[in-house]
Amino acid sequence: MRIIVCIKQVPDTTEVKINPETGTLVRDGVPSIINPFDENAIEAGLQLVEEHGGEVIVITMGPPQAEQALRDALAMGANRAILISDRAFAGADTLATSYVLAQAVERIGDFDLIFCGKQAFDGDTGQVGPGLAEHLGIPQITYAIDIEEVTDREIQVRRLLSDGFEVVRTRLPCLITAVKQLNEPRMPGLKSRMKAKKAEVEQWTCDCIGALADRCGLDGSPTSVMRVFSPTRQVEGERIEGETAEEKVCRLIDKLRDAQVL
Ligand SMILES: Cc1cc2nc3c(=O)[nH]c(=O)nc-3n(C[C@H](O)[C@H](O)[C@H](O)COP(=O)(O)OP(=O)(O)OC[C@H]3O[C@@H](n4cnc5c(N)ncnc54)[C@H](O)[C@@H]3O)c2cc1C
Repeated sequence: MRIIVCIKQVPDTTEVKINPETGTLVRDGVPSIINPFDENAIEAGLQLVEEHGGEVIVITMGPPQAEQALRDALAMGANRAILISDRAFAGADTLATSYVLAQAVERIGDFDLIFCGKQAFDGDTGQVGPGLAEHLGIPQITYAIDIEEVTDREIQVRRLLSDGFEVVRTRLPCLITAVKQLNEPRMPGLKSRMKAKKAEVEQWTCDCIGALADRCGLDGSPTSVMRVFSPTRQVEGERIEGETAEEKVCRLIDKLRDAQVL
């Protein structure tokens, strides 16, 4: 099987800070990692290749430093890594990002599956995977929690819903987005990391993938962000202290009585 995994390098933080003056993400001093859901996507690809044979190709559209995310994916066991990077991609929204990824996929050629994460920790839209499937005109199954069956022509996937799950079967090639329940991503050992440090990472530009300049970066991005801000805490919480749980509960009840809630 030929499996393509789209990964994004994101800041390693649960608390994304915004520069109030520029309205952009503060990345300085924040280390970067592979977007956690994309690690599930890589793991899913590796497991399928272990079972059926083939190769896992990881791709990312990003600045030169995104190469490290690709090396981390190679250390996990991916066979090939491609960095799609060009100044023309700066300022891309999700439409332009998924267009560029689609162009890169077209250049890779035949494939059976594309895996993405369900969403990125920083941009957080969850639009790139579905957008990519649309550009390529292939079926998509989002929020995958189990790859139940893969044949030469079809795949059956269990997908997460807010109140349960559903099982969907579709033809290949298709795109799947991964959630964390899909698997436990493997931790690469030191030897794999050392090998990945020296491995080749292919560098593709806008010209290489035959992308139209006016569909890339800022020019190809119809989204305009009116304002970006960190939400302010409206109500301060109060911590109820006490030696024991009983004492704390009694104090809480007193407070609720004083506030005439009880
Ligand atoms: C108006 C606008 C301007 C922007 N300008 C910039 C900018 O100048 N610089 C900048 O860095 N970002 C910029 N962004 C953000 C960037 O384009 C988005 O982060 C990107 O489109 C991915 O969207 P997301 O983070 O919401 O990913 P999601 O849609 O939440 O990601 C879902 C999955 O798609 C895949 N994926 C997402 N992004 C990539 C990628 N780049 N490569 C490979 N796979 C990917 C991953 O598998 C990921 O798990 C901008 C966004 C907007 C809306």
